[in-house]
Amino acid sequence: MALVSGMFLAGCRKEAPPEPEEPPGGTTSSSRDPHLALGNPSGALPVLAAPDNYLLERSQYALAYDNSRGTARWVGWHLSMAWKGDAPRCNCYSTDLGLPSSFFRAGSSDYTNSGFDRGHLCPSEDRDASDADNEATFRMSNVMPQAPRLNQVTWLALENYARELITQGNELYIVAGGYGSGGVGSTLSTTLTIAGGGITVPSRYWKVLVVLPEGDDDLQRVATDARLIAVDMPNTQTVDDLPWHAYRTSVDAIEASTGLDLLSLVPPAVQDLIEAQVDNGPTE
Ligand code: MN
Ligand code: MN
Repeated sequence: MALVSGMFLAGCRKEAPPEPEEPPGGTTSSSRDPHLALGNPSGALPVLAAPDNYLLERSQYALAYDNSRGTARWVGWHLSMAWKGDAPRCNCYSTDLGLPSSFFRAGSSDYTNSGFDRGHLCPSEDRDASDADNEATFRMSNVMPQAPRLNQVTWLALENYARELITQGNELYIVAGGYGSGGVGSTLSTTLTIAGGGITVPSRYWKVLVVLPEGDDDLQRVATDARLIAVDMPNTQTVDDLPWHAYRTSVDAIEASTGLDLLSLVPPAVQDLIEAQVDNGPTE
């Protein structure tokens, strides 16, 4: 009898409306957006006739491959909570068979005993919503030779800060790469190339992060008040003498050093203003 009357009461009780369900890996406002929504920094195209500016687009990131250097020129990716999840780090470095077979295609062992880490551009931890997303970051086209202290300390600290920003209601557009030649890895001597000359070791690594509150129509929202964080770091074992934020610079300076046009789809008048500034916002 008690059961019956309990069911009767439950049936009559006015219930609260159900909470909206959150999609896996993100909040209701978090989405996965096109990596190159703010522009293709080198006008890269997926054509064999442009081996040093070859566009490779995956669902997880986009990059321009430079066959002469044996690495990417730049890698670009969107970062929001929609890319985050519980997939384990796969550590499954592999030759990128998505590059044309006529290109130099690095193998994981090309870095063995080189004095340099296999440094991710798009980080493993930015892509852990699924095993497939994580595996994509281990293709060697998304990897470049980084001095261990850069990879494991200073570069990592900025990667961690970027992921902190997305837990605070932001979404980010990130582009990163290296330029120059001659890094100083754990052998402590300047190294111009590894892999028998196939891979150029950059002397500098740069990254640009555009920080937007979570929302829609991202390109339209990159206005003169947008937060841009640009850094340019030496590829050396003493890079961690300074914290990541000591390496902040302007996007203009990176464009001058690399020959790229970052944020090329943003109206030129807005680019002129925001690319000249050096971020002085929070750093953790
Ligand atoms: Mn790394
Ligand atoms: Mn620009």
